[in-house]
Amino acid sequence: MLCLCTNYGDNVRTWICALALLLLPLPTLATDAGKSPSSTAAVDAVLPQVEALYLDLHQHPELSFHEQRTAATLADGLRKLGFDVTTGVGKLGVVGVLKNGAGPTVMLRTELDALPVKEQTGLAYASQVTTHNDAGVEVPVMHACGHDVHMSAWMGTATLLSKSRDQWRGTLVLIGQPAEETVGGASAMLKDGLFTRFPKPDYVIAIHDESELPAGTVGYTPGYSHANVDSVDITIYGKGGHGAMPQTTVDPIVIAARTVLSLQTIVSRELDPRDPAVITVGSIHGGTKHNIIPDSVHLQLTVRSYKPETRKHLLASIERIAKAESEAGGAPKPPLVEFSDASDSVYNDPKLTERVVAVLRRRLGNDKVVEMPPKMVAEDFSEYGKAGVPVVMFFVGAVNPAKYQAAKASGERLPSLHSSLFAPDVKPTLETAMEAETAVLLDLLGKP
Ligand SMILES: [Zn+2]
Ligand SMILES: [Zn+2]
Repeated sequence: MLCLCTNYGDNVRTWICALALLLLPLPTLATDAGKSPSSTAAVDAVLPQVEALYLDLHQHPELSFHEQRTAATLADGLRKLGFDVTTGVGKLGVVGVLKNGAGPTVMLRTELDALPVKEQTGLAYASQVTTHNDAGVEVPVMHACGHDVHMSAWMGTATLLSKSRDQWRGTLVLIGQPAEETVGGASAMLKDGLFTRFPKPDYVIAIHDESELPAGTVGYTPGYSHANVDSVDITIYGKGGHGAMPQTTVDPIVIAARTVLSLQTIVSRELDPRDPAVITVGSIHGGTKHNIIPDSVHLQLTVRSYKPETRKHLLASIERIAKAESEAGGAPKPPLVEFSDASDSVYNDPKLTERVVAVLRRRLGNDKVVEMPPKMVAEDFSEYGKAGVPVVMFFVGAVNPAKYQAAKASGERLPSLHSSLFAPDVKPTLETAMEAETAVLLDLLGKP
């Protein structure tokens, strides 16, 4: 079932591979009549096809907004299951609709993209792919965030639901979203009519694999689960000159140093300590040589928060402090403060989260469902919630349980998502992802 071509950069071979995959026989689908499609037996019946899809996707990762082969693979899989499929939504997004009578509309989202990371797991099926990024630089590519787990479980869940239409009603919408890692894909799909050209969902669900939970378990975070992320560039102006004659200059390096320290007081002194936020100055550049005072210094910041009012406060304070420090230093002109790359926090609808958690506890067992603290990372799943639909993303443990226990005992830190060493425990992770997704969808699309 695996395509052996791995040269991503070679278009012809890539498309021959894609074509070969499209010509594969239909997966044999077995969900025993009367048995729940979320049962372990039903899930295990589709597991071989789902694992094969995982290995194929893992060996053919594609960068954000370049997921042509991946999108074609998913679109073809959904078509074979009887979904009404549209491609090219928001550039490369896939939308599959399966109508099954009157009832609610529920959307399940997966991401399509991978990262410019060189896989170092040493696995037999490790990615060997390299490609050219948008700047024309050759980079390695790896599914280091586990989006291949999400896509293959998503296809397995689509298979299980499509073969058990007597057990649910309503409309199931499956979407494959491009460019999550660069946080442009969700908004591109919405701008292209995701909620107007297709049935608007009553709920949107997504999973993410989790490098801090053992396989077989599921995590959830009610309310805010991912952060608002803003990038800020500050250019501080001085008056350059000889390093031995500071009296003839205004030194922007000294102003920058004071600015960096003053910025630390925003989180520590201005915010409620129970309201988490981060201001990190990740880059500082100025000057060329020991004995020259430069004309300017450039700072690059990442700023993270959950609440919109906190975000507003942070950005306003950064600007205020940058201006005040420049003025205090006698700068010839105010600093240039620029904001970019904004992404909004994910807010898991508390009522929907409660309902989903109850389903997961019933399906997997109380001890397999754990509450997790919010993360400070970005996730453009927030866009669907911002568009006015209750959303919930929950987390599926991806770490081999024995390795997890050993690491816990020794205090060793296991590879995180985005690490070149991240290697999900494939079979139990996919199994739990499908059991969880199928159980949740069956509940939300349940017969009255
Ligand atoms: Zn990621
Ligand atoms: Zn991810």
